[in-house]
Amino acid sequence: MNCPKCGYAMGPFDVECERCKRMGEPQPEPIPELLPQAPPPVEREAVDRAYQTEVDALQAQANLAGQLSSVSCLVGLLMLGGLVLLILFAR
Ligand SMILES: [Zn+2]
Repeated sequence: MNCPKCGYAMGPFDVECERCKRMGEPQPEPIPELLPQAPPPVEREAVDRAYQTEVDALQAQANLAGQLSSVSCLVGLLMLGGLVLLILFAR
């Protein structure tokens, strides 16, 4: 006899249609493919901002170092001038 649901040719002693039995079984969940995902633009922006902050900090340090070196140079010149004046007036 044939299955009344799907028309599958069942054996004479089959109480259950093989095809419907298989279809009725719970299908295993398809495992979603783990695709490499590009980081969202917000995260990328945050990385850029952090990098920019680091660059700014380095530039600020460089500026500070430059200012300090010019100040120390000025101080050295003043001291040298003072020393010259001291030598001149000591005579
Ligand atoms: Zn069937």
